[in-house]
Amino acid sequence: MISYLFTPDEIIDKFEDFNPEKYYSLGYRVILLDIDNTLVDEYTPDPNETAKRRVEWLKNSGFEVIIYSNNTTERVKRFCQNLDVEWYAWSFKPLFLVYFRIWKRHHFNKKTVLTMGDQLVTDVFGTKKFGLTSIYVKPFSVDEKFYTRFNRNIEKFLFKYVVRK
Ligand SMILES: [Mg+2]
Repeated sequence: MISYLFTPDEIIDKFEDFNPEKYYSLGYRVILLDIDNTLVDEYTPDPNETAKRRVEWLKNSGFEVIIYSNNTTERVKRFCQNLDVEWYAWSFKPLFLVYFRIWKRHHFNKKTVLTMGDQLVTDVFGTKKFGLTSIYVKPFSVDEKFYTRFNRNIEKFLFKYVVRK
């Protein structure tokens, strides 16, 4: 049971390896998207061309994109201001709170929602606990803040002993 909660439904090496057509044909219509080390590194305050392209790509593939991050309101608001997406800061992933906030507003069918993020401890665990589909995107930057580095150590352990292969 525990291993199930830490096992992503799919692991991809990089964001562009995501297959939107596949998930769309399976009935998925909403993507909850992490920012730090998923769209940009933790030190990039505004969306760069890559991040913009990624969000547009998902939207053009038919998905509603919602950005949810554990980072501060200042960070998330600034990052999302020109992306035309709904956003949630201080998500406290993996706690339920942010998922409840989103569901209270949208009443999504869980079978239509997937999440993309780069951390097992926050993104994947939170997602699986709430009964959603989780795509784990491998982090591309090793230059991370203290709290994230702490999570990475737990993650190494999880990948070795808990995540189902
Ligand atoms: Mg992240």
